[in-house]
Amino acid sequence: MNTVDQRVRLGVSACLLGEEVRYDGGHKRDRFLTETLGGFVEWVQVCPEVEAGMGTPRPAMRLVRAPGGSIRLITVVDGVDLTATMRTFAATRAKQLAAMDLDGYVLKKDSPSCGLERVRVYAESGPPARNGRGLFGLWKSLEAQGKENQHDAAAVKAQYEKAWRSADTKLTVEDL
Ligand code: SF4
Repeated sequence: MNTVDQRVRLGVSACLLGEEVRYDGGHKRDRFLTETLGGFVEWVQVCPEVEAGMGTPRPAMRLVRAPGGSIRLITVVDGVDLTATMRTFAATRAKQLAAMDLDGYVLKKDSPSCGLERVRVYAESGPPARNGRGLFGLWKSLEAQGKENQHDAAAVKAQYEKAWRSADTKLTVEDL
């Protein structure tokens, strides 16, 4: 955002705007985003899994810690490893987004691709650890740009107003 008469531009997980891009063909439309915030911002939609060519519907996937310690993106039922597919796609797409210098991001929580933090990571046994980050890796470029601030949903409006007033304020929201 450069001037007050320009809309704030926010990257957003496409499913949060009602796009039917989830693994089961559904969406996670959020009314605050579409009916309140949507009137004042320009959305830049991203669905890493669809854009990486995984299709809709597609097998559900999750983060898994491999025996060597690396984090993999694995389909739940068949155990197909999609890590390389996602990393290859992300290397290009994340750079595109960084070059757009967006004012912030609204990302779907818990997603093994979009989630910024606290994403479930499964091991061979036992309950999942809540310490993963989505493999799309947008958090890497956010941190590199000093935009890693995150806020809970209750703070979205206040942060939006702040972003509107200041071109230097960046907004990142995951708790939707
Ligand atoms: S959470 Fe991300 S990868 Fe999953 S459907 Fe939404 S936009 Fe696509």
